[in-house]
Amino acid sequence: MGELHVLFFPFMAQGHMIPTLDMAKLFASRSVKATIITTPLNQPVFSKAVDKYSQLGLQIQIRLLQFPAVEVGLPEDCESADKIPSSDALPKFFKACAMLQKPLEDLLQELRPNCLVADMFFPWATEAAAKFDIPRLIFHGSSYLAMCATDSLRTHKPFNDVSSDLELFNIPNLPHELKLTRLQVSPMERSEIETPFTEILKRLTESEETSYGVIFNSFYELEPDYAEHYKNVLGRRAWSVGPLSLYNRDVEDKAQRGKKSAIDEHKCLEWLDSKNPHSVVYVCFGSVANFAPSQLHEMAMGIEASGMDFVWVIRNKREEDNGSEKWMPEGFEERTKGKGLIIRGWAPQVLILDHEAVGAFVTHCGWNSTLEGICGGVPMVTWPVFAEQFVNEKLMTDILGTGIGVGSKEWKRADSDGVKREAIAEAIKKVMIGEESEEMRSRAKAMKEKAKKAIEEGGSSYLGLSSLLDELRAYHAKH
Ligand code: UDP
Repeated sequence: MGELHVLFFPFMAQGHMIPTLDMAKLFASRSVKATIITTPLNQPVFSKAVDKYSQLGLQIQIRLLQFPAVEVGLPEDCESADKIPSSDALPKFFKACAMLQKPLEDLLQELRPNCLVADMFFPWATEAAAKFDIPRLIFHGSSYLAMCATDSLRTHKPFNDVSSDLELFNIPNLPHELKLTRLQVSPMERSEIETPFTEILKRLTESEETSYGVIFNSFYELEPDYAEHYKNVLGRRAWSVGPLSLYNRDVEDKAQRGKKSAIDEHKCLEWLDSKNPHSVVYVCFGSVANFAPSQLHEMAMGIEASGMDFVWVIRNKREEDNGSEKWMPEGFEERTKGKGLIIRGWAPQVLILDHEAVGAFVTHCGWNSTLEGICGGVPMVTWPVFAEQFVNEKLMTDILGTGIGVGSKEWKRADSDGVKREAIAEAIKKVMIGEESEEMRSRAKAMKEKAKKAIEEGGSSYLGLSSLLDELRAYHAKH
């Protein structure tokens, strides 16, 4: 049987490009020819790994499409969703993405691949692929749990049945009783008013129904009830191939994901090596979440009050502060010298989470970070901010018993605020020390072992990919 050629087209945001690169490497390691499609300014996310792995003999390459930022009224260098000046500009970004349909079709015509794995945010990719009779798979970069919960929220709108923003309601018809408040649901989802997103959300749902299936960065043992629910109750075709971050095996791969790290990885490792096992809290909120200055101040005070050693990744450089950190408590860095390592900018996250000195992960529950924490075997302090993070939180706090929440109350795309230092310190201490902490850690370590097994030959994700590739070969033979 001839070799398969699969095209991967991720949405231009770190949380989507990083796992897609890992996925392309994975497919290539299983004798598939992998082509990643992206735009010129995003090429650096992929180029180093692609060069390295093609030199090692894998069939992996990049193809570029020009991004029409200026045509839709965005700044010229705005090729990634992380660069969107405000949420109001997001519809423009989606419009520019949709303008890539024709160039994508030209590429499909030229390359005639056997499958197109395109991001959920590109619903028009299904139609593009159909023109050439190419199966289109969707990559959401999210959990089964989040997909099932979102479907339930859209169908039942339980947030309309409560009398206040803070009253808890159950997300209906899920395998577990999981509760949210109206404030923890995205305003786009709960709004009765039509917004530019209403149309986008509608198209996303439709394309999920018309595509060939969905590929998940997850593994069966992590959320079996939701994998089953997704397939059997919602009736979708899905394959799990994760956790994708585990395909980064050496220090270089683990350290260089997404952007260039703001700290030399060896220095970072040296610092962690000087600490006792499970004695350091790692605090990082992904590539998008954004806090109000008052919250950053409170965060610093909470971390300090916990008394724990820490690595804290500070991403927000607020323009209105001219890049200064006016919110930083006076004398914080002097007082925590030796106890804390602050990384300003991008951290080598997987490298850090895999280090035995790390005893807890304070996370926004972005799905990639969640999985990376699970693969590191660390219990988590959950602090969801926006997107589907409030649902992902439940996996650790309510289902797996590997996390404790700080009590984040409101879904907010920018200037998130409201979590007090006492709550932060208390959650960190609970996850780091004491009997409950030991239990959470042992459950987290057991899940880490299951994650490793899932991707080994014969493991659930390994077999998931085998069955997908078999289907694609059969499809190819018939068409
Ligand atoms: N990440 C990183 N260094 C950082 C911040 C983030 O390597 O300083 C990576 C992280 O390991 C993860 C991705 O960026 O793979 C963030 O994805 P996630 O889904 O957790 O959150 P998002 O950024 O999409 O909110």
